[in-house]
Amino acid sequence: MEYIYFEGKIVPEDEAKISIKTNSFHYGTAVFEGIRAYYDEETNKMYGLFFKEHYQRLFQNMKVLNMKIDESIDELVDITKELIKKNNIKSDIYIRPIVYFSDLKISPKLIGYKAKIAIYTYPLGDYIDINQGVKAIVSSWRRLNDNMIPPRLKVAGAYVNSAFSKTEAILAGADEAIVLNEKGFVSEGSAENIFIVRNGKLITPPVSDDILEGITRWAVIQIAKDLGYEVEERHIARTELYVADEVFFCGTGAQVSPVIEIDHRKVGDGKPGKITKEIQKVYFKAVRGKIEKYKNWVIEI
Ligand code: PMP
Repeated sequence: MEYIYFEGKIVPEDEAKISIKTNSFHYGTAVFEGIRAYYDEETNKMYGLFFKEHYQRLFQNMKVLNMKIDESIDELVDITKELIKKNNIKSDIYIRPIVYFSDLKISPKLIGYKAKIAIYTYPLGDYIDINQGVKAIVSSWRRLNDNMIPPRLKVAGAYVNSAFSKTEAILAGADEAIVLNEKGFVSEGSAENIFIVRNGKLITPPVSDDILEGITRWAVIQIAKDLGYEVEERHIARTELYVADEVFFCGTGAQVSPVIEIDHRKVGDGKPGKITKEIQKVYFKAVRGKIEKYKNWVIEI
């Protein structure tokens, strides 16, 4: 039986249920996180990745949506650890905390409602391929902008946009979508940030280009700089994707995933890039606590 943290306590999955009338279910006003914990066979331990950082981002999102919950960031970190232990997990997992307005009332607004949090775990290997590389298309759907539904927030309603672009990619025979913002610059993938490599330099869109401020994006920048690469945050034009030497996605789910084809054009020589693979190698060691310098990214559970 699986346990879930639901409205103040850890309960069996059957008891973690919300009403069909729940306010956030109707208006997409729930904010959520996607966190990973990795199992390491060598040490027989689970390692929680960036737990505190994810809950900090959740609290920032809650602030924008005017939500308050009873639990603190530190308490949520402890609850998540407890949940993993209670579920006796010894595999790579995804953790999904979600904060929602639990009132059974009609009206899309951000005041006068009570917010609650639920947290559950989900077995997850690779969300998208990390070895062979993925094929992407540039989506015909544009990314939302900061004055509509801010992409900076992991807010449920914003994922309609992700669902449109991901579905378009699948129906076109690709694995992922790359989404342009309203100005026509590259923003990100349907649920991951993007980097391109040109002449040995990494380039990624700035946080003001309608992207989620990804935690993996931050980690990749640290790794790349520590490996001696220059990283530039600037607008990326669509055709730079076609002429880039390497392209990769990154995210908690996606991890570090090479892109080998975009709009039927090979990226580089059509194989995962050298710098991408170098970063991947460090990333996968770091997430299991195997790199001294990045040990503070993980907590042992
Ligand atoms: N962009 C979007 C739209 C996402 O959903 C995600 C996944 N959370 C990311 C980027 C990557 O963010 P992170 O590295 O914090 O998981």
